[in-house]
Amino acid sequence: MDSRRLFLAVPVSDRIRSAILNHLRDHCGRKPLPGRVARPESWHFTLKFLGNVLEAQYDSLLSATNSLGLGKEFELTFDGLGAFPRPSKASVLWIGVEKGAEELCRLAALVEDAATSTGFPADNRPFHPHLTLSRIRPPEPVDSLLSGVAPLKITMVVSEIVLYQSHLGKEGARYQVLDRFALKT
Ligand code: ATP
Ligand code: MG
Repeated sequence: MDSRRLFLAVPVSDRIRSAILNHLRDHCGRKPLPGRVARPESWHFTLKFLGNVLEAQYDSLLSATNSLGLGKEFELTFDGLGAFPRPSKASVLWIGVEKGAEELCRLAALVEDAATSTGFPADNRPFHPHLTLSRIRPPEPVDSLLSGVAPLKITMVVSEIVLYQSHLGKEGARYQVLDRFALKT
């Protein structure tokens, strides 16, 4: 049966993308980020990875997400860089969230409810709001990078969440917007 690889996320605007790129350029100079860097036009905060979604599940996922009260839009301020699982052996390099982290966790809990009520498996890992910058295989230490980049302190407004389809490819995934869900103004 047909299925699509889907996830729900908070998108990042062009203005924010440029501000992040400028900040990284100022702090890292000519040195490229380690690993395979995610395309800036793909940057996002994942709220819920759904995996392969069958066409039969898709409509109930949409109606469950549509019926969520997502609440009011809110401000999010970026913080410093971080790494999973840990800086001394990093496989994911990310930017963290200062202001707005609790609201992002609240959104993630809401979409988790919508997804699990539609029959998707729950996430066992605790939600940790972050924007993935690069994936590092094999893992490398990034301690000096993390301490060399000042917290970003860039502020954006979270006004919508987006349902994306992910198209995997050799040069990294490409994402297609399937639907948008607005927060209240
Ligand atoms: P690639 O897998 O080629 O590195 P990608 O990770 O950007 O590319 P996907 O694997 O389709 O593309 O993932 C889409 C989004 O969902 C990304 O933000 C990714 O971090 C997240 N994601 C993927 N798999 C999981 C998972 N098992 N649990 C939680 N989040 C996931
Ligand atoms: Mg992936």
